[in-house]
Amino acid sequence: MQSSLAGERLGKVCVLGLGRTGFAVADYLLGLGSERVTSVDLYGGAKSRPDDATHALERRGVRVICGTDVIEGDYDLAIVSPGIPEGSEFFVSAVEHSALVIGEPEFAWRESPERWVAITGTNGKTTTTMLATELLCCGGLEAQAVGNVGVVATGKVVNRPDDSWFVAELSSFQLATSSELHPRVACLLNITPDHLEWHGSFEAYAQAKERLFQNLDKADLAIVCVDDAYCREIADRLEERGLRVCRASAHAIPDTPHAAYQHEGRLMVRLDGRDYTLVRRDSMALEGDHNVLNALVASALALEVGVSKEAVCHALLTFEPLEHRIEPCGERGGIRFVNDSKATNVDSVEKALMAFVPGTIVVMLGGHDKGTDLGSLAHAVSARCRAAVCYGEAGPRIAAAVREADSGMGLAVFEEPHMAEAFERAVLLARGGDVVLLSPACSSFDEFSSFQERGRAFKDMVVRLDAAGRIA
Ligand code: ADP
Repeated sequence: MQSSLAGERLGKVCVLGLGRTGFAVADYLLGLGSERVTSVDLYGGAKSRPDDATHALERRGVRVICGTDVIEGDYDLAIVSPGIPEGSEFFVSAVEHSALVIGEPEFAWRESPERWVAITGTNGKTTTTMLATELLCCGGLEAQAVGNVGVVATGKVVNRPDDSWFVAELSSFQLATSSELHPRVACLLNITPDHLEWHGSFEAYAQAKERLFQNLDKADLAIVCVDDAYCREIADRLEERGLRVCRASAHAIPDTPHAAYQHEGRLMVRLDGRDYTLVRRDSMALEGDHNVLNALVASALALEVGVSKEAVCHALLTFEPLEHRIEPCGERGGIRFVNDSKATNVDSVEKALMAFVPGTIVVMLGGHDKGTDLGSLAHAVSARCRAAVCYGEAGPRIAAAVREADSGMGLAVFEEPHMAEAFERAVLLARGGDVVLLSPACSSFDEFSSFQERGRAFKDMVVRLDAAGRIA
């Protein structure tokens, strides 16, 4: 039995986390009035400090508690921001002091449970979410992207138009604290090791992703990319439950009533045995097999909720790559520059390397070292690149792994202290027809505040090159 909270009395509520989510949830709760909410307490966590924003909330009647991970008193409901691990002292304390503990997307869903579609996976979530939103809008539906794309779903509940769709990008963090969230279409793109420090193990991470499907029933649709072994097992389990499962693949043609695949260079979707022939893959601005998969998933989702084939095709042809995701950012002296700063794990880099002609890539790798295994990445770099320039904190470890994988095959491998020197080296190494690709495989925190800042720094360096591609 699913329980929506919409209209129900929530009582004493505490909110965990003082980021964008915490503020949006507190604001929403204040708007519900005393009929539904007795009090709102916002806990910032051990590292939080009061500031102008918390004082402004206090003036509106929220009690803000900073500098501690310990919850005091008793609550009817605790709403947790993403990024607070289930095993942390903060989370556990909330469980001890609250009748119900849920994550923010789950709260938004319970408040407004109609017409949700949801997308998860290790990589490709934002691209697929934005593309799916575009396809729905192009088909004449009201739709907005929410969740991990940087839009707090709860903040969009109040003014949600009738009949609008929420296209939710959900991370494993957000799914770990969901129990009743029930999307009409749920999509899983891939599962590869990442964020293990948060979930504790690969199994816990994978289980969090599988939770997206737990409340689906037979009228819903699960879309699962089956090129990934772990996801294939999940697709099997979902089919055993009697669910409608659309198997998506960039390489095979699934022999199932629901499928999304490529045939003779075209994107194809089959739903309930009916085939839709969509656009040619080389007519889209998105590059690489991984983006074909993202597009297949978004298309199957859109067709399932009633968007016409014509609208799907139109939007696929006009959708531009998002900033920092294999984003073309200029050409100088015949050398193309591509910003893939969002590639913070090895799988996303391997996918980027597959999107360009082998032997024409000068890749820039490095940043904050997450300690991930580099074996498979190093082999891909050796097989596909003209040169690798490794920099930053992780630079020496990546360079060593690539040299070992290459062992005498002649790949040029360089180490540089920072991204700026790495860029200069990459420009010197590249020839006409090559691609200088920033696809770092690491987070940016040794040198930058975010992947966005890193990507913009890269694009600034490209802008400063002269027309012949020389450092000006
Ligand atoms: P997420 O929101 O899951 O981080 P993004 O769309 O922001 O996903 O892309 C993150 C990185 O992963 C980018 O480098 C992008 O090129 C790469 N990527 C996008 N789609 C996929 C996919 N289906 N499989 C693997 N890598 C992908």
